[in-house]
Order: sequence, then structure tokens, then C-alpha cells
Amino acid sequence: MEFDYDVVIIGGAFSGAATGLMIRRKYPAARVLIIEKNAAFDRKVGESTTEVSSCYMTRILGLTNYLGHEQLAKQGLRMWFCNSTEQRFDDCVEIGPRYNARVQTFQVDRAKLDSHLLKCAVDAGCKLLRPAKVGKIELNGSNGQTVDVDPGPRSLRARWLVDASGRTTLLARKLGHYRPNHEHPINAVWARFTGVKDWDSYDWREKFRDYMDACRTARSWATNHLMGHGWWCWIIPLRGGDVSAGIVYDSRIFQLPEGANIAERLHAHILANPVGREIFRDARAIEGDLHAFSALPYYSEKVCGDGWACVGDAAGFIDPLYSPGLDFCSYTSNYVADFVGRNLAGEDVTANVTHYNAQYPIMYRSWFEALYKDKYYYMGDAELMSAGFLLDVASYYFGLVIPAYRNPEEAFLVLPFHGRRGRIAASFMKFYNRRLVALAKRRLATGRFARHNVGWRELYDGFVPDFRVTKLLRKGLLRWWKAELTNLRLIFASRATTPAKRSEAGTPVEA
Ligand SMILES: Cc1cc2nc3c(=O)[nH]c(=O)nc-3n(C[C@H](O)[C@H](O)[C@H](O)COP(=O)(O)OP(=O)(O)OC[C@H]3O[C@@H](n4cnc5c(N)ncnc54)[C@H](O)[C@@H]3O)c2cc1C
Repeated sequence: MEFDYDVVIIGGAFSGAATGLMIRRKYPAARVLIIEKNAAFDRKVGESTTEVSSCYMTRILGLTNYLGHEQLAKQGLRMWFCNSTEQRFDDCVEIGPRYNARVQTFQVDRAKLDSHLLKCAVDAGCKLLRPAKVGKIELNGSNGQTVDVDPGPRSLRARWLVDASGRTTLLARKLGHYRPNHEHPINAVWARFTGVKDWDSYDWREKFRDYMDACRTARSWATNHLMGHGWWCWIIPLRGGDVSAGIVYDSRIFQLPEGANIAERLHAHILANPVGREIFRDARAIEGDLHAFSALPYYSEKVCGDGWACVGDAAGFIDPLYSPGLDFCSYTSNYVADFVGRNLAGEDVTANVTHYNAQYPIMYRSWFEALYKDKYYYMGDAELMSAGFLLDVASYYFGLVIPAYRNPEEAFLVLPFHGRRGRIAASFMKFYNRRLVALAKRRLATGRFARHNVGWRELYDGFVPDFRVTKLLRKGLLRWWKAELTNLRLIFASRATTPAKRSEAGTPVEA
């Protein structure tokens, strides 16, 4: 059968470009067309990479040199907690790495990264149509998939259609597979700022000597998170000096303070936090670079069929805490590129299509319940969140990071939470997450929530992808079990307590 192309990919950002590049590498004769709506990428969210997405970018996509020269090396994730708006900056709780990161991760300007990756795909032989928008789509299995492209208008037919259209979720919506995740009502507002205070400045060395001496790496290059009850804010440095900052909040628990416009509301919220105030006192939001999304999480009930597949955000999205967005893009684009390439080479890939449809919802659901479901109830309490953080990161290292570094080619063809081991890991993670939520709810009810968000700093030697992760796992377990003991004391305490009042920073304070 005559097709205009073997593969048409809708969307030329990270997922689309990675899929095109990998198809051409696996099957160099493939005729791949990438259709991208925008003439140029504008600045977009998704700037912090994890150990897994960085492994994919460096080991599989081969971007090590590019990332080293053009983007920033990230120095871990650092979290800040307080329990009153008036708290001193150096009295806030800090949790994060003491030294430079042991595994490469990056702070990326996504417009630049996506442009570079798209160029790599074109250099590898993909054709690019840009700016051009895919409108109508017709799916006809082995008879080919037809897309209408504007400007043109013209119709193109391909054996495979890959949807990498991001949150537009073209195919999921067209086929009626799109499902919002109502169990997780989170929203985000973000902007880029100039004039943000340097976390490692000389005047702070004079002002906050203990803070400065405690840490052997620069805090500026970390992803810094301000944590509160029902919300967290990210602060991510970008190459060139601008800083990306945004809030994600669960609307069951928290609302942004009122203000003239959304930029002011975001800024006011950050300034109400003792750490945010020190960092953003003189900062200004860059005009025209403010964005908001409501109802962030969703998924597609079916992610592929004969001749079509969804990758990256076009298949689903959960929550940006811990930056798993590009992890999902890496696994899905690599898995799809592999079976599409093999099919073009003549292999029957029916089993892969069936597996992708079966495993994607397991991966989505397990990832969601294990890491995110109701987490916003406990993320403002430093004790509970640090226990969750240690357990989450240790599980992530055991389940994904260690396999990815041991054998990336194999690991990126196995979707997370696969098989018996995946089920056991998911059950363990769901269990401690549910327990931490229950402990937080009791602390909230008894006025004990966030009581210890003051005066301590826990700096880790770092996470390493080998057996040494057990040390952090042990620490996480001990902290969780200690919180369980406190919970028992609260249950049996005879003294009545008053419910917590909410401070302006959104963090409960003691009554
Ligand atoms: C608040 C927030 C914070 C986040 N932070 C992080 C983070 O720190 N780290 C991380 O890894 N991830 C993060 N993410 C997730 C990350 O942004 C996404 O997972 C990632 O951008 C998805 O990439 P993609 O290529 O699948 O889709 P996109 O980047 O959305 O690209 C889709 C492309 O398709 C094109 N397109 C759409 N419709 C059409 C059409 N009809 N025709 C042609 N082209 C079309 C668009 O122009 C676009 O270029 C965050 C997400 C949110 C919401």
C-alpha cells in the first residue's frame, strides 16, 4: 500500500522529537514526518530533570555534550518548611543534599532543549513541517491513518500516527479516551522572574553564617521547593539568570490569596513565606510570561491501536512534584519508537500494542497512588514529608534509577510498575503514602501539624544508584515509624487540643 510517510508524528517538542529520532535510529529507512504547530517554541514549563529522564537524555538520546554546554547542572532537590509567616529565614527547616549530586541531572530551558532535540531528529533524517497544525484525523488500521494539515489544506496518509501533541491530547479527545483525574484536583500558576536573590551570595554569608557553612554545595543550582499545607512552590534557576517559579496546589485544601491579577497573587503568596520573602523580595515577574493550568492530571484510557499511539503528555499527566513529566515522556516515546521501528522492519508487534495498552494504565495508576494521591495533606509537615521523601526517593532508585543506569537500553523498554515486582513495590508505596496521609489528618485535627517545622536542617550525603540507597530507606522507615508512635500518643492523649489555625502562608500554626 502506498503511504505518503511511514510515520507521521503530531508535535515536535520533547516527546515527538525523541520518538522520531529513535524510530530513525532503530529503522534508518523509515520515512518520518514531524508536524509542529508553532514556528518556534516559546518558554515552557518542565525545566527540572530527574535521574531517569537525564539517563534517557544522556545514554539513549546522546545529549550529554549538548546538556553540559548549553544547560545547567542541577544540584538536587531541596525542600523548605516553616510554621509561621514571621519565622526567621535561618530558622526554617531545610531538607536536601549536602554535596553536589552524584548522578547527573539538569535544569533545562525547555524551548532550547526541545529545539535542539528536534534538530537532532531532522539531522537523523526526519522531515519537519512547521508551522503546521494537524486538524482532522482518520484512523484506518493497516489501510493507513490520514491527517489534514493546515496550512495547506492537504491530506497526508501514513502507516503509523504518533500523537505527541502534549496536553492538547488530540487523539485521546477525538477517540473519547480522555479522562480527567478528579481524585487529584491540583492546579498550577507559574512565571519566570528576574532579580531573584542569590542563595549563595556574599552578604548572606555575613548574615546567615550557619546556613552558609552547613552546606558544601551551592543551593542556587538546586530545585528549591517551598512546602506548605496543600501546596508547594518550585524555584528553578535557568541558564542566563532568570528563575522559574510556580505554585502547584490542591484546591480541596488551599486557594491562592486574592489580588489584582494572577501574577500578583503568585508573588504575594511567595512573599508570605519566610524563605520566599528573602529570595523574592526584589524579584519581578517577566511580562507576558505568566501561565496557569487548572485540573492538571488526566490520562487516556487507551494509548494505542493498530497504526496509532500516544506518547508523553498526549497519553497522560499526573503531578509535577519530583519532576516525573520527562520520565513519562522518556518511557513512552522509547517504547513506541521501538515497536513502530520493528513493525516497519516487518515484525508483527501486536503483542507490544496490547502490552502498551495494558501496562500504561497500571503505570499511571500505580505512580499516582504510590506517590501523589492525597500527598498535599502532608506535604506541609517537615517530619512527615521528609519521611515520605526518603521513602519515595529510595523506592525510585531501587525501582527505576538503578536499572536505568545498569542497562539503559533494556530499562527504557520496560514500563514502570511492570510485573510482580512492580505490584509489590506499588503496594508498599501506596501503603506508606496512605499512612502518612492518615497521620497528617490526625496532626491537623489535634493542632500538631507542622509543629516541628522549625530550627533543624537535614542534609544528606546524596543518593547513589547502588546498595547505599538502603541507608536512606532505613532513615525514611525510622522517621515514618516514629511518626506512627507520635500518632499513637495523640490517639491516647487525654488532653483536648484545639484545631490548627491557618497562617497567611497557608501553613497551619498552633492555636
Ligand atoms: C506546572 C508544571 C510543571 C512541570 N514541571 C516539570 C519539571 O520540572 N520536569 C519535568 O520533567 N516535567 C515537568 N512538567 C511536565 C512537562 O512539562 C511535560 O511532561 C512535557 O512538557 C511534555 O512534553 P511533550 O513533548 O509530551 O508535550 P509538549 O511539550 O506539550 O509538546 C507538545 C507539542 O505538540 C504541538 N502540538 C499540539 N497540537 C498540535 C497540532 N494540532 N498540530 C501540530 N502540533 C501540535 C505543540 O505545539 C507542542 O510543541 C511540568 C508540567 C507542569 C504542568
